[in-house]
Amino acid sequence: MALTGLQIYKLLPRTNCGDCNFPTCMAFAMAVATKRVALDQCPHVSDEARSALAEASEPPMKLVSIGTGDKKIDIGQETVLFRHEERFQHEAGVAVLFEDNLSDAELEKKVEEIKKLKFLRVGEEIGVNLVALKHNIADAETYASISKKLSESTDLPLILMSDDPSVIEASLKAIGDEKPLIYAANKSNFEKMANMAKQFGCPLSVYSEKLEELADLTQDIKKLGVDNLVIDPGVRQAPHIIDQLTRLRRLAVQKVFRPLGYPVIMFVDEEEPYQETIQATQCMCKYANLIVMRGTNPWQLLPLLTVRQNIYTDPQVPNAIEDKLYEIGTVTPDSPVLVTTNFSLTYFTVESEVENSKIPSYISVVETEGMGVLNAYAGDKWSAEKIAKFLEKQKVREKVNHNTIIIPGLVAVFRAELIDEYEWNVIVGPEEAARIPSFLRNEWKPGVSK
Ligand code: SF4
Repeated sequence: MALTGLQIYKLLPRTNCGDCNFPTCMAFAMAVATKRVALDQCPHVSDEARSALAEASEPPMKLVSIGTGDKKIDIGQETVLFRHEERFQHEAGVAVLFEDNLSDAELEKKVEEIKKLKFLRVGEEIGVNLVALKHNIADAETYASISKKLSESTDLPLILMSDDPSVIEASLKAIGDEKPLIYAANKSNFEKMANMAKQFGCPLSVYSEKLEELADLTQDIKKLGVDNLVIDPGVRQAPHIIDQLTRLRRLAVQKVFRPLGYPVIMFVDEEEPYQETIQATQCMCKYANLIVMRGTNPWQLLPLLTVRQNIYTDPQVPNAIEDKLYEIGTVTPDSPVLVTTNFSLTYFTVESEVENSKIPSYISVVETEGMGVLNAYAGDKWSAEKIAKFLEKQKVREKVNHNTIIIPGLVAVFRAELIDEYEWNVIVGPEEAARIPSFLRNEWKPGVSK
């Protein structure tokens, strides 16, 4: 169990020297107890105190790395149950499942499908992170050769799935030092699996449908020298998944129950693609750290990856971009000037629709503390005056040979003031970004508004 602030305080030097950037040792102890700072921030902790406090300063959930080099992904080390309490630390991995009975042609086709599962959203590339290879019918040699092919043909780390240690071992020898996730150790094979994970330096999944047994297994495996673990509680049915994953997350981060303080892998077992996406998304929200699914349709992956991108941002940091004048395409003095806020999702949506229009344009981004159009208006974060000031600061009149700006339809109310007080010619644009391409093509006439 984690130590309380008072217990930690008793082990500190208690000199209140302030070298840790906290005014008192008690304040520092409280911060360590709530895992807001690391113990190392106090340079005066004795070795005895350090070892006694090591557990208190460790995150309640283990950080596990899968793969190596550019292929490596980190999962786990979560500290909270709810995102707004702090933030979620490491994005959940999304893996696509392969079976070992695929023909060469089917395997290559699926690899090509996976390579296309990359999307640009809010200025960031999002995509699947791993491939999982399930052992069904192949012998150890064939399974090893398929895993090698997968490893060479994708830039993603592997999950090797078999209960048979000899199958996993053949594959590990074939793919070299790739450090895939081994799935899975269970009650009957854990010693062999743990020894293999130790020998090859790989993370290891542990499977049991009973939480007590799962906790015992992780401790038995830890005694064998392997602590880079991912746990699978074996639930596959929708009504039980959220229940069990919530219980696991509570035990890990609230009770700091170390035997279950590991990232969780979930397998989405739905034949119907829509249901598969829904279930995967539920797992993403609560509380899987690794999700394995069969589907490779872009329409299945994009919503799942979008949810992941949304919940793994830091809620305490505004999702904002730099306020400046952006040039989209090869702009000229005739180009239109669109005005928007510095909420990154708003900006990148507007940017992509301007690109779709094929009309080179300026986008004047006004600082609104990372709020979208309506929120910024309702929260008094932007106004006609603020827009006018930013247009001046960005020297917009010097870049174009007209004095026309296009403002979002949702803030048409700014139009009169921008015309009367600041002498801009104002066109009220569409309320939805999706209408920008047709709006620019139909409404923007270079030279008309000089
Ligand atoms: S640096 Fe250490 S001894 Fe000094 S105030 Fe902080 S916790 Fe106390």
